[in-house]
Amino acid sequence: MEALNKIALDLVSIRKQFPILDQKINGKPLIYFDNGATTQKPKQVIDKITEYYSSYNSNIHRGVHTLSQKATTAYDEARAYVANFINAKKTSEVIFTKGTTESVNFVATCFGKKFISKGDEIVVSEMEHHSNILPWQELCNSTGAVLKVIPVTEEGKLDYVAFEKLLNPKTKLISVTHVSNTLGTVNDVKRIIDFAHSMNIPVMLDGAQAIPHLKVDVQDLDADFYCFSGHKVYAPTGIGILYAKEKWLNQFDAYQPGGGSIKTVSFAKTEYADAPHKFEAGTPNIEGAIALAEALRYVNEIGISTIANHEHELLIYATEKLLQINELKIFGTAPCKAGVISFNVGNIHPFDIGTLLDKQGIAVRTGHHCTQPLMARYGIQGTVRMSFAIYNTKQEIDVFIEALNKTLKMLG
Ligand code: PMP
Repeated sequence: MEALNKIALDLVSIRKQFPILDQKINGKPLIYFDNGATTQKPKQVIDKITEYYSSYNSNIHRGVHTLSQKATTAYDEARAYVANFINAKKTSEVIFTKGTTESVNFVATCFGKKFISKGDEIVVSEMEHHSNILPWQELCNSTGAVLKVIPVTEEGKLDYVAFEKLLNPKTKLISVTHVSNTLGTVNDVKRIIDFAHSMNIPVMLDGAQAIPHLKVDVQDLDADFYCFSGHKVYAPTGIGILYAKEKWLNQFDAYQPGGGSIKTVSFAKTEYADAPHKFEAGTPNIEGAIALAEALRYVNEIGISTIANHEHELLIYATEKLLQINELKIFGTAPCKAGVISFNVGNIHPFDIGTLLDKQGIAVRTGHHCTQPLMARYGIQGTVRMSFAIYNTKQEIDVFIEALNKTLKMLG
């Protein structure tokens, strides 16, 4: 099956599906290696948004007219598609949010209100994105709970022994990333969940960097909460997902009370609707949800294992070439990695490398990647990060390596 998938991958056609790729930046063909920050969008996703606004734009759920019903059906079907994509048991366990950041804030707020008090402990890891640190830090500040941190090993793996020692009866929740946006490490989240559940502790997974690269099955993982952003998986910005097991949603108060989230309202008493509507007050990002489902359909059409294989090949190819460069150090050398490479060369500032690569048409990300605690762990300010998507090629890596060598010469 894998072999068949490899043969079927036609990169020329795939690249044609992404109109943005066909352009020059600073006179050079664009090479886009900043997919960890956001992916480009295929035409079928762009067309879906145009189709929505050209033919059935309307507010959902409260309209009897044809357009409203069409928009409502498309929105509801989008939720069902997402639920199926991550193998949620029930469609109502999928809540549309603005993205990963909002999803983490959602759980910190709702879980925090019900279950966190002074002296409780919440566990995150040293490799978390700031979006999976700050909501918990704020919750700790406001309740007197304590944030505990799983250390990261030199090669960029979670220290699982230290993790197991951190847990105790005061631990109320663990929130860790499935894949590190800076190191590329794919964490053994099943091991984390199994161990946590043996102590009755729920686990939230930040899937922002996992969903574009791995098959995610929330039931198989047995995650209590799982979240991701659409824009990292070929969908537009401003739409994302919080998956939560029904048993948690049933205990949560409305995250943001307002129109659309209720059964009845009076000044004496308000009765809320059931999930998911209880948690989606206000007019949602209708076209975003529809386009997200279309993006996931796009991923399904190619096949997530085909995407993973291709990105893995790029990862191996680029890593080998990079390691031939003098004084180049890769941060994140764990055996199980997604297509992300962070590196520095000697004492050269990553911004300088990124700026000169841009002059040659190459987009990479430089800086701390919203993981300052991880940067502190390695004693660095930032890195250059290249991150791959389905449309990237080995030829692009060859051009990149040439451009990088030229850049390093220029920087002395
Ligand atoms: N977590 C991780 C691992 C990420 O890579 C990102 C985005 N860089 C986020 C959270 C935040 O995602 P968003 O900005 O889409 O909310």
